[in-house]
Amino acid sequence: MNIHDIIKKARDGEQFTKGEVIEMLSYPTTSAETALIMGEAGRVSRELTNNTAEVHGQFALNLAPCPVNCEFCSFASQYGIFKDPIELSVEECIAYARQFDETPENTSVFLMTTANYDFGKFLEIAKEVKSIMKNGSYMVANVGDMSEKRTRQMKDAGFHGVYHAIRMGEGSTTKVSINQRMKSVRNFQDAGLVVGTCVEPIGPEHTNEQIAEHILLAASFDPAFSGAMRRITIPGSDLENYGMISELRIAQIVAVTRLATPRSVIGNCTHEPNVIGAYAGANLFWAESGGNPRDTKEKTEEGRGLSVGDCAVIFKEADWNVHTGSSNYFNKKHAVLAQPE
Ligand code: SF4
Repeated sequence: MNIHDIIKKARDGEQFTKGEVIEMLSYPTTSAETALIMGEAGRVSRELTNNTAEVHGQFALNLAPCPVNCEFCSFASQYGIFKDPIELSVEECIAYARQFDETPENTSVFLMTTANYDFGKFLEIAKEVKSIMKNGSYMVANVGDMSEKRTRQMKDAGFHGVYHAIRMGEGSTTKVSINQRMKSVRNFQDAGLVVGTCVEPIGPEHTNEQIAEHILLAASFDPAFSGAMRRITIPGSDLENYGMISELRIAQIVAVTRLATPRSVIGNCTHEPNVIGAYAGANLFWAESGGNPRDTKEKTEEGRGLSVGDCAVIFKEADWNVHTGSSNYFNKKHAVLAQPE
């Protein structure tokens, strides 16, 4: 299949095979073929959203050494970056949520915790946060794997959706299997929570075949959004020697993710926010505050984290409008697909 066949297939809205996804990922980042793929993905993304991108805000309820020890994460207890657990008070959580929620461009507030955070406390704080959020803003959880019972409790606490990713290297760089992640995705969806996802964290060691498999796996459960995120090197981590892929390479992967994902999924994220990613079809960025698994600062707003306004400026530099009001991406009901056991 040459590049003209690929663009025609994308224009016709047809589903790409795994082999075709690998082919799109295999072009050099600096090639004319990749430029065409990024341009077409951007066109599709803009068409699906009326050229209107979204910014969501995330903050962490805690910052603690995490025993799950994912090799790419600054919270991993084995790295000793964060030695003493810090938990935000209810008041601090409300202040962070307000900070995001009061900006016109923020449409969803994500509450993140490490895997060992107390679930009862998580629900209590979530209810308090939800009570101060403006009508129309969605509260979203970014937490570990959850049982059916817990997903129902999360729905009852006021969550509209969750972020859940099947990580690159799941089961080797993390202690969690793909099956466990997928079981949680089904539990969330069965409880009525809308799931957003991303192909992440991608490093130079990941093959095009591995990335293609994850792009298609993410597309298989009809998420609110998919997308792609590169791994940020944590100094001293086991993965440090691999280094990082470039912004141009992650933009290429973002573009391929857009083209290989059904049009029923209108959101396409990238992280961290950047103009070339927005050009290549990313239409969702995150602002961040508090603890951040890609940062070694306690308050990422003093480090890598961007504000809602910063994210909106980057979108505007790529000639996107920025949405205000309820998230269009999360405003969907999942058509739950049959999943392999
Ligand atoms: S990614 Fe999540 S589960 Fe893994 S070490 Fe970091 S906080 Fe723990």
